[in-house]
Amino acid sequence: MKIGFIGLGIMGKPMAKNLIKAGHELVVLDLNKDSVKELVDLGAETTEGAADLAKKVNVIITMLPNSPQVKEVVLGEGGVIEGATAGSVVIDMSSIAPLASREISAALAEKGVEMLDAPVSGGEPKAIEGTIAVMVGGKKEVFDANYDIMMAMAGSVVHVGDIGAGNIAKLCNQVVVALNIAAVSEALVLAQKAGVSPDRVYQAIRGGLAGSTVMDAKAPMMMDRNYEPGFRIDLHIKDLNNVLETSRGVGVPLPLAAQVMEIMQAIKQDGCGVEDHSSIVKFYEKLANIQLGH
Ligand code: NAD
Repeated sequence: MKIGFIGLGIMGKPMAKNLIKAGHELVVLDLNKDSVKELVDLGAETTEGAADLAKKVNVIITMLPNSPQVKEVVLGEGGVIEGATAGSVVIDMSSIAPLASREISAALAEKGVEMLDAPVSGGEPKAIEGTIAVMVGGKKEVFDANYDIMMAMAGSVVHVGDIGAGNIAKLCNQVVVALNIAAVSEALVLAQKAGVSPDRVYQAIRGGLAGSTVMDAKAPMMMDRNYEPGFRIDLHIKDLNNVLETSRGVGVPLPLAAQVMEIMQAIKQDGCGVEDHSSIVKFYEKLANIQLGH
């Protein structure tokens, strides 16, 4: 099938490559010309802009940073909406505000264009492996018709509910991930300051109730002092902003998520916004005046 793919960043690029591996033809776009060239070298086409891309395909996938970029690319001047024909589908796999998904979907519906909000979890390693988890909002029949396309990039693809529900699931995911990274940071810094190897503690507890995918992905990075993203602090702040706006909108207090948001803001002020979110551990190292080793 011929598919449009807009946004070839840390996640989008390997996801697009997996679609090519699955036998799909791609038309790609990104502001970064090197990323576009990498995909063109693998057989993808490129175009002048989003409207032109949308004329060439019936399925358009977007994997962009946040709501403003998705709105601009889909609804802005020269955007997808100008080229898309009735019956085509936009699958937005970016993590954006659920309200923005609903707004974009409503605007597309006026032209007869369908939309799924289908954010992902798993980070760059799972995007490369093709094992990300995809959480999807939108009409069930549109989900069913596009399941195989999403599955070509994923280990699981789950329909959560109506449009916006995918991004609500993603916000829940980001709360669990943020709090889990903070908990792992606290525990490893405690071990270090108490004179016990954090690595031995990690090895001892990872198979028990405390073990988690987050712990296995992030504890080694913290002990290696490797903060290469991965998932940048700036993007997690963006997600927690969407979490707190949404939770306040529906009247749900999130005391722990709010606190981890402030920790991320503090780390960002130290110039760590572009680092992996595992660099939260530096906040705890500073408080305890100690550095993690192995
Ligand atoms: P990224 O910043 O690496 O990639 C975004 C890409 O979009 C860049 O290549 C950028 O050039 C491109 N872009 C921005 N504006 C554009 C425009 N107007 N037109 C065309 N291209 C444009 O980000 P990422 O890490 O790939 O994340 C993408 C989305 O996936 C985000 O919403 C993020 O929160 C989410 N996400 C990321 C991870 C992760 O581990 N990195 C995991 C799960 C979900």
